[in-house]
Amino acid sequence: MSVKNRNNIEDYILESYNKHLKDRKEETIFGSITAYIVDELPEHIDLQSVLKKIENLIPEHLTYSIDAIYIEHLEEFDNRSVNAVYKNSSIYITNFQDDEADMIDDIVHEIAHSAENMFKKQLYADENIQKEFLGKRKRLLDLLRQEGYTEYEAAFNNADYSLAFDTYLHQTVGYPLLRALTQGLFLSPYSVTSLREYFAIGFEEYFIRDEAYLRKVSPQLYEKIELIASY
Ligand SMILES: [Zn+2]
Repeated sequence: MSVKNRNNIEDYILESYNKHLKDRKEETIFGSITAYIVDELPEHIDLQSVLKKIENLIPEHLTYSIDAIYIEHLEEFDNRSVNAVYKNSSIYITNFQDDEADMIDDIVHEIAHSAENMFKKQLYADENIQKEFLGKRKRLLDLLRQEGYTEYEAAFNNADYSLAFDTYLHQTVGYPLLRALTQGLFLSPYSVTSLREYFAIGFEEYFIRDEAYLRKVSPQLYEKIELIASY
């Protein structure tokens, strides 16, 4: 083989390799978690830039129990009006995204659920977060009673997720009233839903938004996120 031919072959290989890279619809985060585009994202969303930003926001060790990210609109998203889910050690996230910031929120939220599973003992053994959460729920129950909402009172003392209670908060009470009543008490109406969501919304606040505000509103949660962040 002449040197000239060899170079041509090398050029060819390099060219087809680059073409392969360009065509393939996957990116990675931390070089280890692959993101697969099953359903096309809107053109104005650059997945690589989204993943890069997440790498800069979240310590890598908090993602160790995530195998893959699938950009795919699952049927269950419509049924439960959610955008993403963490299951089977993977994050599934809808391709219907308004902008990169929304997509980052969704992915970080699901990273929170996976990190919560990984660090259950460190987070919950002393029950400080549970006490903080249920104390806030009790305060909210008083506020709702004053507004004439007296259903599901027993559910306020249960930190686990319940579809009936979720629907009650979301549809019967409604998020606008809930938002107004929980100013300075919960970070968002959704964080009232369950202990898991209280944790995940706090995690988002800590890493994406206003760490100092989380410390002010939910000091116990803040302390534990600080702990697992520096593990
Ligand atoms: Zn969640």
